[in-house]
Amino acid sequence: MSAGDAAERREQLVSLYKEVSSCTKCPLYETRTKAVFGAGNADADLMFVGEAPGAEEDRQGLPFVGRAGQLLNQMLEEIGLSREDVFICNVLKSRPPNNRDPLPAEIAACEPYLWEQVRLIEPRVVCTLGNFATKLLTGSQTGITRVHGTPQTHQLGGRTVFILPIFHPAAALRTPAVKEQLRADFATLPALLERALPAPMPSAEELAEAQAGPAVEEPPPPADQLGFFGESAG
Ligand code: URA
Repeated sequence: MSAGDAAERREQLVSLYKEVSSCTKCPLYETRTKAVFGAGNADADLMFVGEAPGAEEDRQGLPFVGRAGQLLNQMLEEIGLSREDVFICNVLKSRPPNNRDPLPAEIAACEPYLWEQVRLIEPRVVCTLGNFATKLLTGSQTGITRVHGTPQTHQLGGRTVFILPIFHPAAALRTPAVKEQLRADFATLPALLERALPAPMPSAEELAEAQAGPAVEEPPPPADQLGFFGESAG
């Protein structure tokens, strides 16, 4: 179901931003400086989902503003895009202390915000950065090394989208070969953004209707009645 026109969706996104800013659903609110909602174009075709804010993101309340963010900016530039063209957010909206891995309970508390962001922004392509985002959004435990660079079709936020799993830029900063792979996967994005999305999957109601079989057909009118509309009854 559509979330309304762009202005309505933007307004709902602002409400969601306020909700996230004061969220206390998991204990991370006690240690964060600022919640990091996400930033960029609220009407973007391309959305990136990282893992969780780091130290600099926690300070500024903005996603990917540290070294990993600079690499992300560079990769975007190389395919002719900028931060203003895309929306960037994370699985967790609050920083885990010492950048430890997100805990399952933290992901469970935070994920409704992400589904709502996808529903309101209506992206065509969602790029998952690294293992945490990829596993959550694809619903599979298969790791990033095996799935990166191959688009998958999923239902997210009530819509059909392409998910393109790619390496996390922080991993690319550590390993030059990963950086080249990230660059190669980024290079596939312009064509993917142009690719037609498959038809949406049928809703539960539509499936139930199809299973119930065809609607009972009206019996044909008697022959003499057909004659009434100009056809021969004989
Ligand atoms: N790493 C992430 O996953 N997200 C950020 O916002 C910054 C670094």
